[in-house]
Amino acid sequence: MARTFKPRPSVPDGMSLLAELLEGNARFVSGGWDPKDAELAARPAKSLAVVGCMDTRHNIERVLGLANGDAKVIRNAGNLVDDGTLRSLIVAVHLLGVRHIAIMGHTKCGMSLVGRGEFRIARSINETTGVPLHEVMRPDFQRWLGGFDDCKEHVRRSVEVVRRHPYMPHDIAVYGLLYDNDTGRVQDVTPEPAPK
Ligand code: ZN
Repeated sequence: MARTFKPRPSVPDGMSLLAELLEGNARFVSGGWDPKDAELAARPAKSLAVVGCMDTRHNIERVLGLANGDAKVIRNAGNLVDDGTLRSLIVAVHLLGVRHIAIMGHTKCGMSLVGRGEFRIARSINETTGVPLHEVMRPDFQRWLGGFDDCKEHVRRSVEVVRRHPYMPHDIAVYGLLYDNDTGRVQDVTPEPAPK
């Protein structure tokens, strides 16, 4: 039986947004691009990697006073230390000279609501793609989305995940940071290293 599904109403002005992006790039090339950027080393100047959320309300480099070339910045929904993040961190540590890793979460993270929004996401997947709801809502759907309840605890647990990864050398410093969405301040929430 053919799947019936509701296509997304429209993606308004998709092409004009693309044109806007390319225009923005033309302005960047003529006015903002610094040829020195091309000569920056692949190794980050501060030997630092930051894992942050894709949240649009803060810019990680600006929040932490970092310049181009200072750090490898890895962002995803909810600053998850998942396989993709770990792959990037392992490359950063073993190939690109990273010795410090900061996991930076933030208050009011949308991913702390995913537990409650899970069904909304599943229904949207169903309605826009036709994948049956029972296939989307498989038992590990919420775990796969990566939702969590407490933003600070989530950061602290993520620090432990990185510290304990078997490919992570013991002398890598791993910090936990929490950005306050309402004040711009960053709090150090690094858990004590577990006694050896
Ligand atoms: Zn977030």
